[in-house]
Amino acid sequence: MRIDILTLFPNSFAPIKESILERAKTAGKLEINIINIRDYSKDKHKKCDDYTFGGGPGMLMMPQPIYDAITSIEGYEQSHKIYLSPRGTVFSQSKSEELATYNHLILLCGHYEGVDQRIIDMLIDEEISIGDYILTGGEIPAMVLLDSVSRLVDGVLGSEESAEIESFSDGLLEYPQWTKPREFMGREVPEILLSGHHQKIAEWRKEQAILVTKERRPELWEKYYNEHIEEFNKKKKRKK
Ligand code: SAM
Repeated sequence: MRIDILTLFPNSFAPIKESILERAKTAGKLEINIINIRDYSKDKHKKCDDYTFGGGPGMLMMPQPIYDAITSIEGYEQSHKIYLSPRGTVFSQSKSEELATYNHLILLCGHYEGVDQRIIDMLIDEEISIGDYILTGGEIPAMVLLDSVSRLVDGVLGSEESAEIESFSDGLLEYPQWTKPREFMGREVPEILLSGHHQKIAEWRKEQAILVTKERRPELWEKYYNEHIEEFNKKKKRKK
């Protein structure tokens, strides 16, 4: 998979060097390119923002540098082009799974008051928000998306870090977990986890996942219940 990121602040992406993304790049599973939009400005001072027509506070990113930066990317026509924006669809694990199926993503990071609407109309396929709050720029949202999507790309995670049994992967939050020592400050690991009985452990973990989801995210639980209603009805019948 290839991900191109367009930004006015390329140095903001230094943290990705410290994560699994670097491993993925080294293993040849992922190609990440950080593109400085300012390099494409035709202004003699490399200016990339200006006042908004109609007035109002703040500056807006101008269309020319962004247009030239995106259209200079090889294969940009076939890529899926995303603008990180508080007005977009709210990001989720299922959106991440969908994005992981693309071969080529282009992520546009806004700054100031955002970008000229013509860029969105002419080039952007989808706007994505990382939540209902406002950040200074699209760089942190792009890193959130990058981290989440890339760990779903085949071969990026080692088997010890499987993405298949994590919160949201099956519609439930994850069950609680324990590691060594068996006893810590008087608190013991639940007995069932030491039993070696894989099926019973799996059933217990599922129950715990259901309990935690019901308690913390009732709307997720309702969705899960409705999607698995037949399974629950069968269980009820068996108990009778
Ligand atoms: N004026 C914009 C609005 O009210 O919708 C907010 C602009 S924000 C200060 C600057 C940039 O940060 C945006 O263009 C976007 O790229 C990014 N951004 C801020 N909050 C975001 C969020 N919750 N999700 C995704 N991107 C966000």
